[in-house]
Amino acid sequence: MGCGTRRIGFGWRAPARLALLLAMAMGCASNPSLQSGDASASPDAYATANSERTAAWFEDHRNQPPALRVFLQRMPKGGDLHSHLGGAVYAESYLAWAAEQDFCVQRAGEALKLLKCDAGDPAMMRLATLEDSEIYDRLIDQMSTRNLAFAGRTGHSDFFAAFEAASPVSRLQPGKMVAEVATRAAEQRTYYLELMISPQNRAVRKLGRQVGLRSDFASTRRALLEAGLADLVEGGQRELDEMERELQQILDCDGADASPGCAVTVRFLQQTSRNRTPAEVFAQLAFAVEIARADSRMVGLNLISPEDDRVSLRDYTTHMQMLEFLVTTAPEPVNVALHAGELTLGLVHPKELRFHIREAVEVGQARRIGHGVDIAYEDDALELLEVMRERGVLVEICLTSNDIILDVRGDDHPLPLYLAAGVPLTLATDDEGISRIDLSHEYLRAALRYDLGYRDLKTLARNSLAHSFLPGASLWQQSGTFTLTPACASDTPGSGNPTPACADFLAASERAREQWRLEAELADFETLNWAH
Ligand SMILES: [Zn+2]
Repeated sequence: MGCGTRRIGFGWRAPARLALLLAMAMGCASNPSLQSGDASASPDAYATANSERTAAWFEDHRNQPPALRVFLQRMPKGGDLHSHLGGAVYAESYLAWAAEQDFCVQRAGEALKLLKCDAGDPAMMRLATLEDSEIYDRLIDQMSTRNLAFAGRTGHSDFFAAFEAASPVSRLQPGKMVAEVATRAAEQRTYYLELMISPQNRAVRKLGRQVGLRSDFASTRRALLEAGLADLVEGGQRELDEMERELQQILDCDGADASPGCAVTVRFLQQTSRNRTPAEVFAQLAFAVEIARADSRMVGLNLISPEDDRVSLRDYTTHMQMLEFLVTTAPEPVNVALHAGELTLGLVHPKELRFHIREAVEVGQARRIGHGVDIAYEDDALELLEVMRERGVLVEICLTSNDIILDVRGDDHPLPLYLAAGVPLTLATDDEGISRIDLSHEYLRAALRYDLGYRDLKTLARNSLAHSFLPGASLWQQSGTFTLTPACASDTPGSGNPTPACADFLAASERAREQWRLEAELADFETLNWAH
């Protein structure tokens, strides 16, 4: 079997590191199997004539990206596990909402600023009556990475500035924002979202500043709880209630004309800004753990803000230790996904590239890694890849974001290295509004650039739900192998009439129900034109 054969197995029953080295030495590592675990398993254990014909259609149209876009737009993709709500909304939506809320535009040097209109200031331009298309276009450029080549800035600075530009509006519109993102997801047959949000962010940081850091983490947590952390958790839950109410109303989920977005299961991850003082970061993390324990809508937590920021770098290990303490001492399991290794050579001192992913996994309790771009620079990277494979630590791959922010793309991206090592992967958008993309675009990009076929893309979609933070057992016995759990072993995945044992299993697991829905959607998708 030559390297040109698609979806080859690398014999992962052999010591994985040896297999990886062998694969890389053979020059095969850029075209590996997405299946991890048992290499003898069929690439698609539940292949049907329809699924085979669908895969063949995809290959037949490999040289026609627009045709593949049609295919991928319609293909059920499971979930998007890495999406910041604030960055997922398109600038045009923010501007429309700003106009409704009497916002004005003000020139601030080279930039344009959005702020509430002040009747006394004649220099302000009212958005609702703005006739100047050039100003409108410049606002969109400023609130996204559109026209980056002409902006005279790097993708990195333009990207993070876009969050700032939208922030006066994004703070006011959470329900509308979720409605937009959920609707776009549904239109692309993506029915599960874990959106990253920051309820109570300012109040929690303020509490953190007031309490400070005590002699150890345990006494700091105690002091935060005594100072009112639980009240802030209730405040956060009220924000979620309000957001949910507004969302239901916008999507008209109980009405006859319910939006497609109503079909999307939306869950949240609590964000913590990593570039704040240690006391503020600890308070945010303690809050995240408490709200995740208190509210099933908040399924986990993540650390955000630029990983290459001076403070983020200085305190990286401390943050991992804080997480280790808070998560391992919590009475119930708390799900952690971490941005780690969103770095590259030249952006930071080389020493910073050597340990972030490992510490996130081994200290910070991360079950998923966001980006993981600098994996090749980690100390003993091959051993770390093996640890990630063994523990089933999934990497959320954000190709467009990495291209724009880090200038890492194509052969320089580690996606093939992760695949070769059998580390579970999925594709995610990161900030689809700022980057002006969607999840289908990321699937297309991965398929074209890394020669992934339909079965591979199905694996990425299945991984998104298998590694979601929804509660309950997975439909699959083991990450990556896609053998049905014993209760459903005699069932057809996604069938409308599961056996009683399987029905009981599904009833007890939210995760498995979403997985079952994906299987049903995939089976349906495979009956469409491409299967004939
Ligand atoms: Zn991110």
